[in-house]
Amino acid sequence: MTGLSWILRKFTMNPENLFGEADTVAGCGSIEHDLVDMCVETEKCRHLLNKVAWLYDRNDAESKKYSSVVKLAIPESAIKALNRSIDILGGYGYMRDQGLEGALRDVRITSIYEGTSKIQKNAISKILY
Ligand SMILES: Cc1cc2nc3c(=O)[nH]c(=O)nc-3n(C[C@H](O)[C@H](O)[C@H](O)COP(=O)(O)OP(=O)(O)OC[C@H]3O[C@@H](n4cnc5c(N)ncnc54)[C@H](O)[C@@H]3O)c2cc1C
Repeated sequence: MTGLSWILRKFTMNPENLFGEADTVAGCGSIEHDLVDMCVETEKCRHLLNKVAWLYDRNDAESKKYSSVVKLAIPESAIKALNRSIDILGGYGYMRDQGLEGALRDVRITSIYEGTSKIQKNAISKILY
């Protein structure tokens, strides 16, 4: 489960859990904006992934560039979403039994193995310039 769907499920079902007074997620101030940002990041990644699969299926030369774009974008977005999820829950989010710190560790490696994010940037810049 992504950090986003975890947060949405937890707080749309039990919004009073957050500060004990809000009755909707929208009532939780800047958290609503965090959730919107996570939603946009998730959609961006979904479309990038579909695009590279579509290009690859057609043996399009652009698929090479987009493979690196996707390998760069998805881990970075997932790390951002999980960090925000932990911030939203404060110290509670950091606790091992909540599962988010484990999820962050699992996601963090995806920006390292199979070519680090910096190596993806090198690959993309070689294609661009
Ligand atoms: C949990 C885990 C599982 C793994 N599983 C596998 C696996 O199944 N198969 C496998 O083959 N490997 C696996 N690896 C290895 C992984 O692919 C490498 O750790 C990864 O490629 C980074 O290489 P490195 O650790 O040697 O770091 P380095 O290459 O030493 O890089 C260190 C830092 O320098 C940066 N850097 C290096 N070169 C450049 C450059 N030219 N320009 C800009 N920045 C640069 C990197 O981005 C990184 O930030 C795994 C690693 C871990 C931690």
